[in-house]
Order: sequence, then structure tokens, then C-alpha cells
Amino acid sequence: MKKLARADFDRLREKTRLVLAGRDPEDSYGFVNTPIVRGSTVVYPTMEDFLQRKARYSYGTKGNPTIDALEAALNTMEGGAGTVVCPSGLMGCTLPLLATLSAGDHLLMTDSVYRPTRMFCDSMLRRMGVETTYYDPALGADIAALFRPNTKAVWTEAPGSQTFEMQDIPAIVEAAHAHGALVMMDNTWATPLFFDSHRFGVDISVQAGTKYYAGHSDVLIGTVSARTPELYRTIRDAWEALGVIIAPEDAFLTLRGIRTMRLRLQEQMPAGIAMAQWLAARPEVARVMHPALPDDPGHALWKRDFTGASSLFAIELEPVAMQAVGAMLDGLSLFGMGASWGGYESLILPFDCTPYRTATKPAYRGPTIRLHIGLEDLEDLKADLDAGFARLRAAA
Ligand SMILES: *Cc1c(COP(=O)(O)O)cnc(C)c1O
Repeated sequence: MKKLARADFDRLREKTRLVLAGRDPEDSYGFVNTPIVRGSTVVYPTMEDFLQRKARYSYGTKGNPTIDALEAALNTMEGGAGTVVCPSGLMGCTLPLLATLSAGDHLLMTDSVYRPTRMFCDSMLRRMGVETTYYDPALGADIAALFRPNTKAVWTEAPGSQTFEMQDIPAIVEAAHAHGALVMMDNTWATPLFFDSHRFGVDISVQAGTKYYAGHSDVLIGTVSARTPELYRTIRDAWEALGVIIAPEDAFLTLRGIRTMRLRLQEQMPAGIAMAQWLAARPEVARVMHPALPDDPGHALWKRDFTGASSLFAIELEPVAMQAVGAMLDGLSLFGMGASWGGYESLILPFDCTPYRTATKPAYRGPTIRLHIGLEDLEDLKADLDAGFARLRAAA
């Protein structure tokens, strides 16, 4: 097998690059995959080599071959200047904020943001002297009115991972860049396969790799990709300063996950849409929140900017007592009840975002439920939910 030159690799289509990226059998004793390299200490043959740090790797916290392989593969997907990985998706969100904001700075944060990111802004960022203003995710170009002289960054997440509001990313990018502010995006829902965030001008693109990248509910990992070499340096320097290295086993499992991510999403996207449509037709369901459905308020933006959908969405039930919802959820046998998503298995959970939202108060008539559709047979999943709705009706 002939080794490809870098320029030839870059010319390949994404599908092929995802199979080839982050591995080099010549460096792996001929084995197909990059092995798990564990280690803290790197030893040098001579004093001169040590003094000049003349080695590919210098110490365990600064990277190793397994982690490098993953970062190279992720960068192929993100198409940015560089990507770093960290031990959780949450750290993927907090790292770029820590890396770029200083005391006295102002941050614009979407009200639909992943809640632990919000808690980070309201606790540690606030203590460090960074002020956060939450904004309505529906704001497009009008976000310009919220900028202050010290606004350094705008955080976006589209769609929100509980409430599924889409955001007009190009309009926000234009307003932010006109102001000299960075745009950061939690792109976990669409993944780089379905939303090419850097091409739309997003400066920092974050993934909870825990979800579709790893894909098997057995790894926690975050990724941060930067659009420009300068920003990449800033993120990499913060990464080194904080010592947020990941375990090489997690890098290996995530690399394994992304080989099949496209296939999983190609199966899970239509399953999620079909399930959303089936739910929309049910009398117990008041509304489905899924931007790929034509009557969703975010559909036009989704259609304009995204090339696909993942299999996470939410529903609003017709008004019903929570104890009836409990009867429905407790008896499900195919949907696990728990946080996270993006694995091969279906999940369901009740949520209520109204107590902590500050810029907007979504008005729901009945209880809200989030679903993640896995790789099970759709008819089996529908039968499980159908029986659940019967329990809900009986308990109402
Ligand atoms: C899960 C999630 C995160 C955090 O990822 P963890 O690996 O669980 O820390 C961040 N953003 C979104 C949108 C998520 O769903």
C-alpha cells in the first residue's frame, strides 16, 4: 500500500478521509489501527537531546501518538486549523471560554445552551470577572443590539439539545465579526458531517464527542476545533497550561467510533425523523420539536444551512399529570431513561427548562420529553411507545 502525500490525502472525499485519517500502518508494526500508547515519561538518549527536547514527544501531558491520531482524524472532519481533545464534552465547552476570555470581558450566551455550560458561566466565569448575557436563540442579525464595547464572544448551540431552537449562524457570525467578537458553537447535534461550522465562519467549534463520535455510550470526550492558526495556538496553549490530557484508551475508542459515525447517522437520521412524524400524528402529543420537520419553526434555517439531522428531538405532550408520564416512562422496555445521547441505543427523559431560562420562557402546555433514537428496529420502538401511551391514558 503506497503512502499518500498530504496534498493527495486532502483531495480525497470526506468518506474516504474518515477511513484513512489518524492511522499509519508503517508506524504501527503493520497493524491497521494506531495502538494505545500509555505513558507519562519520555526518555532521551543524550543530555543534548534532553536539553533541546529533541523528540517527537516530550511528556505525557503534551500528547502522545494515540491522541495525536485522534486529533488528526477530527481535524479532517472539522476542516479547521487544528483540534484539541479533552476529557469531557463539558470541558470542550469550558476550555475555549477559559482560553479566550479575561476579567472585564462580556460574553453573549444563547439561552438554549447546554445547562452545565450555563452553570460554568454563572459560577466560575462570573468569579473571574467575565459577565454573561443570555440572549434569545431566535435572534439573528438583531443580536447586534446586544454587543457592548467589551463583548468578546458569542456562544451558539443549534439546535438547543433540549428545546431544539435553530439559530441563524451566518447572521450571528456577521454581526459578531463586524464587532470583532469570536463566535463559538456547540455543534454536537449536527456533528461536522451535517453542519460545516467553520465554513459558516464559526471560530471555535465544540463537540461532546461522548455522543455520536464515540457512539457507544462508553466514553466521555470533548473536542475543540479552531478556524484559524492563531486561535488554535490560543486553545492549544490553554490546553497545555491546564493539563487536560485524555486517556489513550478513550482516544482509541473515539477513533474507532468515528470510522462508523457516518453509517450510524445515516441510519439514525431517517429513524429519528420517522419517529418524530409518527409522534406528531399522535393525539397525546401537542407538538414535536425537530428542525427537520417541515412545520418546525427552525425548519427553514435547518434546510438552508444543514445537510442532515441527528436522532435527538423532543415532544410536548398535551396537558397531563406527571404521574401519568411516569406510568408511561417507567414501563418502557426499549428506551432507557437517562442523560446523554448519540449512542447506539434509544433513550428517553422528561425535562423542564422553564425554571432556569432567563432570556426566554418557552411556554409549554404539557410536560416535555426528549427522545434519542438508536439503532433498534423502528417498529419495535413504536410498539414500546404505543404501549407507553396506553399507560399514560389509563393513568391520566
Ligand atoms: C452532553 C453534552 C455536552 C457535554 O458532554 P459530556 O461529555 O457529557 O460532558 C455538551 N453539549 C451538549 C449539547 C451535550 O449534549
